[in-house]
Amino acid sequence: MATEKRDYYEILGVKRDATPEEIKRAYRKLALEYHPDRHPPEKRKWAEEKFKEISEAYEVLMDPEKRCIYDQYGHEGLGGPFREGGFSWQDFSHFDDLRDIFSDFGLGSFFRDIFDIFGGGVQTQRARPGTGYRERGGDIKVRLKLTLEEIARGVEKKIKLERYEPCPACGGTGSRSGGGLQTCPTCGGTGVVRRVSRSIFGQVVQTSTCPTCGGTGHVLKDPCPTCGGTGRVKKKVTVTVKVPPGVREGQYITLRGEGHAGMRGGPRGDLYVFIEEKPHPFYRREGDDLYMEVPITFSKAALGGEVKVPTITGGTAKFKIPPGTQSGKVFRLRGEGMPRLGGGRGDLYVEVRVRTPQIKNREMRELFEKLAQYEGEEDLEKSFFEKLRGVFKQ
Ligand SMILES: [Zn+2]
Ligand SMILES: [Zn+2]
Repeated sequence: MATEKRDYYEILGVKRDATPEEIKRAYRKLALEYHPDRHPPEKRKWAEEKFKEISEAYEVLMDPEKRCIYDQYGHEGLGGPFREGGFSWQDFSHFDDLRDIFSDFGLGSFFRDIFDIFGGGVQTQRARPGTGYRERGGDIKVRLKLTLEEIARGVEKKIKLERYEPCPACGGTGSRSGGGLQTCPTCGGTGVVRRVSRSIFGQVVQTSTCPTCGGTGHVLKDPCPTCGGTGRVKKKVTVTVKVPPGVREGQYITLRGEGHAGMRGGPRGDLYVFIEEKPHPFYRREGDDLYMEVPITFSKAALGGEVKVPTITGGTAKFKIPPGTQSGKVFRLRGEGMPRLGGGRGDLYVEVRVRTPQIKNREMRELFEKLAQYEGEEDLEKSFFEKLRGVFKQ
């Protein structure tokens, strides 16, 4: 795989000594060109691939450390996470730049799209690096789908994710021998290289960013071959998260230090667990309250009686309906709703739906015919038409 990879400079169409500004400009142009929304559905997959390719190139060339390693060792040098499955989509450190780029074009919603395109746990923000040498690890954002029952009682969930862990080969230092950084041999630490040429007008001095260190002035001494000098490798891990009762869709739980490992011993990022609520077959949630419908028989509606409903905690609640209850009447059951985060519970609202009986035998038919005499159909129609007339008069 590694040998088939195209050269990052070639992908972005920039020279090897391109400045970050030039790289950004080239990337901006290509990112817009390959924006998946700008292509018909049948070409979208292709555009996504292209977009991934240019983003990977951009991510590496904009990061002085990675660029330096790439310049010295090529794709191989970037090691584990980059060599294996290609670009790491959990690590969107260049998204701040991307956001700047796209906000100019009103394409902000693209970020939601890209999360959906690449799926799974994704990350958006990261503390800006200081020197970049011991950079903080990125945050990870994951979605956690829960049933209403799980939310009602609180739950402990195991989340599987892929994240950077300190490289076991170098102990997270990034350097095989523990050497750290050394002054760039190409530019002597200045970050720029000078080229002197002679012309008929005299001597011309041209300066450009040092291609070896990408302008930082230093290179990593003896980079670890396992992690490519980054001090971290990708691993699949399982994290346990405790969800308190009463959480809501859109809320999130922060697990400090459960994000990506930092570069070369830098601090870990955080893990954000975003709560999503699975739709329930018969409860509807509104804040802390629950709503449901329950069917009752025609005779119970007429005679009144007791109605039983299942509660979110798995129990049963009972309530009385008066004689002559109409279909659509709502009864409120205090404290049978969702638990509140701060304590207490919401209510359960039950709407009764009168089920019209199906006549199954002669006896039933006779009973209903008898009943009809008492129902006063004419009075019902009369009052209905009077009401209608009242509406039209207004
Ligand atoms: Zn290592
Ligand atoms: Zn240099």
